Amino acid sequence: SAGEKVALIGSGNWGTVISKIIARNVTKHNEFQQEVKMWVFEETINGRKLTELINEKHENVKYLPGITIPENVKAVPDLLEVVRDATVLVICIPHQFVHNVCDQLKGKIDPKVKAISLIKGVETDDKGIRPISHVISESLQISVCSLSGANIANEIADENFSETTIGFNVREEGELFKKLFETKYFRVGIINDVVGVELCGALKNVIAIGAGIVDGLKLGENTKAAIIRMGFLEMKKFMRKFYGGIKEETFFESCGIADVIATCYGGRNRKVAESFVTSGKPFDQLEKELLQGQKLQGTLTVKEINRILSREGLNDEFKLFTTIYRIAFEGLPPKTIIKDII
Ligand code: NAD
Ligand code: 13P
Repeated sequence: SAGEKVALIGSGNWGTVISKIIARNVTKHNEFQQEVKMWVFEETINGRKLTELINEKHENVKYLPGITIPENVKAVPDLLEVVRDATVLVICIPHQFVHNVCDQLKGKIDPKVKAISLIKGVETDDKGIRPISHVISESLQISVCSLSGANIANEIADENFSETTIGFNVREEGELFKKLFETKYFRVGIINDVVGVELCGALKNVIAIGAGIVDGLKLGENTKAAIIRMGFLEMKKFMRKFYGGIKEETFFESCGIADVIATCYGGRNRKVAESFVTSGKPFDQLEKELLQGQKLQGTLTVKEINRILSREGLNDEFKLFTTIYRIAFEGLPPKTIIKDII
């Protein structure tokens, strides 16, 4: 049948919530075909394949237990089968897996395909920062929008109201994606700023680690608000310094200040950072112990950001980001989060 054919690449905690949202919406708007194939990184759970469990129970028992996924979502372990004939790609995987996935897709995607990245992460190279949307668009030679917001996945799975932001280069694509994602409980704003939207989503994870450190130290809400305020200013300054053309308004959409707040109170990065302080265990161990296979994005981003700040001699200008790195990875005592930034 005619209409856009949507493929979802990713099926973690957020990816699975998104499958529920878009699978309902494709049945409501006649621009779209009704089946949504979802790529699942295959794994075995109690002797059963995760894809089989999802297709049988209509539930992602590992990454989003207790939530029903619509029956028009089909879990598929073969990435190339998922993207075959797709005209729209929704990409929602942890950022460390983007290269591997793009390498498999390279040369196999029609240049007219429209994509959107829901990934919260960033890379750096010799020239500066490399937004994930650029990694994808350069590899696959397609146009890529971004979606990011104050969007703790489990709360949206329960259909509690939230907002999100879509960044576009081509307005028609932003509008198409708004149709694909918007529901009564998930309000979509669109803005002509792909990179601004996604970089906010990546950098707020650094602030969330700072917030978790302060929580672990039991310093209270005023201290945490101070970290949020200073972190927001460093995030803005960093984005402006390393990427031209980011809109001021972007920082005040859901992807900006609202996501900083949500993640500093309810996110996984915050939770693991708090435990880092109270348990003294390293982040990679805690990620495994506390997250049941879900992945942290903030720790990798803290390292990427510090690499570029050190290389450019900017550590003194980004005191909070630098101190968070040193506490997380160089053994600096957590309480220096306050001392070092005054
Ligand atoms: P997740 O952290 O819950 O799960 C990890 C996923 O990675 C699983 O689907 C797992 O199968 C997959 N995986 C493991 N090894 C892999 C490999 N080698 N190759 C490919 N995939 C592999 O995932 P998520 O929460 O859906 O996160 C995806 C992106 O969405 C991240 O960038 C995250 O920051 C962002 N995000 C998450 C939330 C949230 O609340 N969970 C909200 C907004 C944005
Ligand atoms: P965490 O990855 O820290 O859970 O953050 C989720 C998120 O991005 C909420 O908007």
